[in-house]
Amino acid sequence: MEGVDEVDTENLSGVVQPMATIYDAEAVEALRKRAAVQPQTLKRFRNVLFKQAASLEEALAVLPVEQQAGFREQLQAEVLVLHETRVSEIDGAEKLIFRTQDNHLIETVILKPQSGRTAVCISSQVGCACYCSFCATGLMGFSRNLTVAEILDQVRWANRRIKLEGRSVRNVVFMGMGEPLLNQAAVFEAVERLIDPAWFNLSGAHVTVSTVGIAPGMRAFAERLPSCRLALSLHSARQSVRERLIPQARNFPLSVLREALEEAAERGTVMIEYLLLKNVTDQPEDLAALVDFVGDLRVHVNLIPFNSFTGSNLEGASEASCTDFSDKLKKRGLSVTLRRSLGADIMAACGQLVQHKLKIDKNIV
Ligand code: SAH
Repeated sequence: MEGVDEVDTENLSGVVQPMATIYDAEAVEALRKRAAVQPQTLKRFRNVLFKQAASLEEALAVLPVEQQAGFREQLQAEVLVLHETRVSEIDGAEKLIFRTQDNHLIETVILKPQSGRTAVCISSQVGCACYCSFCATGLMGFSRNLTVAEILDQVRWANRRIKLEGRSVRNVVFMGMGEPLLNQAAVFEAVERLIDPAWFNLSGAHVTVSTVGIAPGMRAFAERLPSCRLALSLHSARQSVRERLIPQARNFPLSVLREALEEAAERGTVMIEYLLLKNVTDQPEDLAALVDFVGDLRVHVNLIPFNSFTGSNLEGASEASCTDFSDKLKKRGLSVTLRRSLGADIMAACGQLVQHKLKIDKNIV
């Protein structure tokens, strides 16, 4: 049951309660009913907030004048506080560092390719519990899952930042800090809001959830969000090598991932991400294992150059070796792209900037 009956009378009598956020659909609906605002008007309010990336004040202006104060007092628009920004001098990529209400730092990257197809790379957790050896986020340890509101606020902030440039977020990728499928409930709900025509109204084809390979989560994702894209961070199709790079590989071995991928590919679009590490994942036996793993699966392979960071003893494959690996995969009939690294000068790879900042704050570097 929802609506007026559920209204907390203490709240009405002035006792301070934590404010509901604009992302809390139930609380906003209760507020709407209490204030007798028309559903159509609420729809316009959400349009202005989420599609036009306007401020809360601008959105409030679509409500009847006498209801604006009530909404203003009881709704919180900005969940995250913008702590710092860095803009890449190479390609305009923008890194946003946010502070959560409980003082954690998380990061979001806005990528601005010349095609105009603006993408935003968002975080799903504070830190990460997967500890992949090539990933800077792992160095931070794991603090907590992000809430639906914190996930969505990254997209809203990104849209507000780029609005004056005539851009808007077209693609959302869950490739920032954290393992999205270990925060499944919040991530799934956030993705539903991103593709909901009444909320962010993105195309499912433009929302990608990237996973280290949590097989049950991959299946659940494909079942619940078949219009969206799933990316598996495979990085090696050799079990022993993969285990060395990704501790989670022990829980979900390649055979299990292959099955989950196959199921997901039947329902929707899947992608494999493959990091090219010198002498670790770029050798002829790595290529052969990858070709074998993919087999006749309908899947696109995205080759990623390594973004090195302080504290890592891994080395990226040379540009020539990356191109060679890519060409050979293509010759074997695979659909392949070699990703160009955007925002290299602002440390756009996962967790790198927050990691660096934490060190500065603690005077470690
Ligand atoms: N946990 C999820 C999503 C976050 S990482 C996952 O594992 O997919 C997003 C992508 O960036 C993953 O493919 C990850 O392997 C890759 N990545 C992490 N650190 C990197 C680095 N230093 N250089 C290049 N890619 C990196």
